[in-house]
Amino acid sequence: MAAVTSAKRVPLIAGNWKMNLDHLQSIAFVQKLAWTLKDAAHDFDAAGSEVAVFPPFTDLRSVQTLIAADKLSLVFGGQDLSEFDSGAYTGEISGAFLKALDCTYVLIGHSERRQYHGETDEQLARKVDAALKHGLVPVLCVGETSEDLEKFGPSAVPVAQLKAALANVTGQPNIVIAYEPVWAIGSGQAATPEQAEQVASVLRDTLAELLGADVAAATRILYGGSVKSGNIAALMREPNVDGALVGGASLDVAEFASIARFQKHVGT
Ligand code: PEP
Repeated sequence: MAAVTSAKRVPLIAGNWKMNLDHLQSIAFVQKLAWTLKDAAHDFDAAGSEVAVFPPFTDLRSVQTLIAADKLSLVFGGQDLSEFDSGAYTGEISGAFLKALDCTYVLIGHSERRQYHGETDEQLARKVDAALKHGLVPVLCVGETSEDLEKFGPSAVPVAQLKAALANVTGQPNIVIAYEPVWAIGSGQAATPEQAEQVASVLRDTLAELLGADVAAATRILYGGSVKSGNIAALMREPNVDGALVGGASLDVAEFASIARFQKHVGT
């Protein structure tokens, strides 16, 4: 089936800070980022584009307060959430708490969560349900390791992860998919635009099968893995790549702003 594409998808450039920047550093960082993006802010608004940051949990209240007080054109989200709403789950963070802090998004199934915290496809499906239940937009991360790539080819594992994570989802959910080949994360070796497009296109076809053509056409599919200001343009030129999830480069204000600024030229 041919992939459904839509000119209406709003590009999203999302910065995953991982376990970096404490709450004081987060304030300085967001202020500087907003300042750096300031000249382009009107264009971002006009184009309806989005720049999102994903700080550690302990920074969220500070980031929320700053963005609200200064009316900054930035959105934010958590890096994970609990599958449960509340109760005796020491160390966990409820989607309800993230929503109460005005989070728009929440990352789910980042490869570091899968690898270091043993998160399973079944658990991630419950986390997707929890995010949607609490009015958060899940940014579902899928991607293959280099061993997967060798054994199964480029799209088999990301597609299987997508199907598993959406197992209980029905209707027309607002979700974002981040295709993040594990071999590209933090390696300096990004997928080529053609590789990213190939998998993004298959993921969109899979969304169409699971949730229908409208959801497939409306859902943003990001590419993540060693995105920099030097490769974002070529990646974003691909029809099924609707933005980027950026790790290391999101911790450098100038570099992240350059990546984010690129979207100014998309769709104009
Ligand atoms: C990530 O961890 O989501 C990521 C894309 O990292 P990096 O940009 O550093 O490869």
